Amino acid sequence: MENLINILEDANIKPTIERLSILNYLDRNHNHPTASMIFDEVETKIPTISKTTVYNSLKLFIENGIVTPLYITGSEIRYDFTTKPHHHFFCENCGKIFDLVVDCPIFSKKHFQGHLIRQQHGYFRGICKDCLEKEAKEHH
Ligand SMILES: [Zn+2]
Ligand SMILES: [Zn+2]
Repeated sequence: MENLINILEDANIKPTIERLSILNYLDRNHNHPTASMIFDEVETKIPTISKTTVYNSLKLFIENGIVTPLYITGSEIRYDFTTKPHHHFFCENCGKIFDLVVDCPIFSKKHFQGHLIRQQHGYFRGICKDCLEKEAKEHH
């Protein structure tokens, strides 16, 4: 928790119990959740928290570069608590998002082909390993 307090204070964000709980959830679950998933979990610990508080906190985290929004599903925002750039794989079958550990040649670059890079997102879609295995079993 102390580490999370430092992260918020470094970004000049007041570390309220609500903000810390949201960040703590993202820190412990690297499942790229929706705001609703975060709300459902945090509400069990802070019953007075509102959805608006969750949305506003996430917005504040994004504005300060603490949390990355993922638009990979095309229908909802998923949230990622990480400072290191990495690519993502979205399973069109189960809806899970996985980190793709790839050596992207552009990760270390600030400029590429004349463009100034501020954010890096690589999106891949398909059927995940777990779903493929399940499918294979069902056909035998
Ligand atoms: Zn899947
Ligand atoms: Zn990720």
